[in-house]
Amino acid sequence: MKNKTILIQGAMDIEVEYFINHLEKKEKHTIAGYEFYTGYIHTSKIIISKTLVGVVNATTATTIGIMTFHPDFVINQGIAGAHKSNIHIGDIIIGEKCCNINAFSMPTKEEGHSSNPFEWEPNKRGKEIQNGDEKLVKLFKDFFETNHENAIYTGTLGSGDVFNREYDRIVWLQNQFHHLSEDMESIGTYCVCNQFQIPCVGIRIISNNELTNEKLDKEQAIRLQELFIKLFKTKYIYL
Ligand code: SAH
Repeated sequence: MKNKTILIQGAMDIEVEYFINHLEKKEKHTIAGYEFYTGYIHTSKIIISKTLVGVVNATTATTIGIMTFHPDFVINQGIAGAHKSNIHIGDIIIGEKCCNINAFSMPTKEEGHSSNPFEWEPNKRGKEIQNGDEKLVKLFKDFFETNHENAIYTGTLGSGDVFNREYDRIVWLQNQFHHLSEDMESIGTYCVCNQFQIPCVGIRIISNNELTNEKLDKEQAIRLQELFIKLFKTKYIYL
């Protein structure tokens, strides 16, 4: 059985640098401005992809990554905001599912009749739930539960080009989508991977919670990468 080729994505420098520093036999490839670093971590063949921030970038980088490097599976990882008050900085969300929490239709309003986002409804893309790969979800859940001191949740990742900071808005969104966290990339990855039928999972460490006033701590991105490296060093990933 051959060891798998794994495409691992992060949007910002802080979400990929620790990985890149741990790659052996590292080679850098830049395609249409998107950076990919191929190499090995222990015996696993890894491609680190810096997707840049946002759904359009994640979608583009995932398409290029799959077509160029033919990974066996894709991991989208990084920081996210919690959308439930019992989820805190340092907790990890494993994306059994992913949904676009920034895709709406709205009733018509005439000039001067203001705007009421609470009247909006998820549109077709908002209602489409993307699935993560069950085996990957289980593998990471089992590993993280025994190797991380904070809570581990499996559930729905919310994703869209928005950083919500209004309490009532977050609660309203959560009632619509029942997601646990908000990031700006994972929905792009899930949509592309599901189209190509490449197994994928999104894994997010909580960096902020606007409901509980926990301020953005980007350093959590490094803790998550440390966990992945530990996993690759202790376990072969065959699946
Ligand atoms: N470009 C800014 C934004 C960083 S936060 C900067 O560098 O300062 C946005 C990034 O962190 C996105 O990649 C997103 O996936 C993630 N993120 C963390 N918390 C988020 C939240 N509450 N809402 C949306 N995205 C969040």
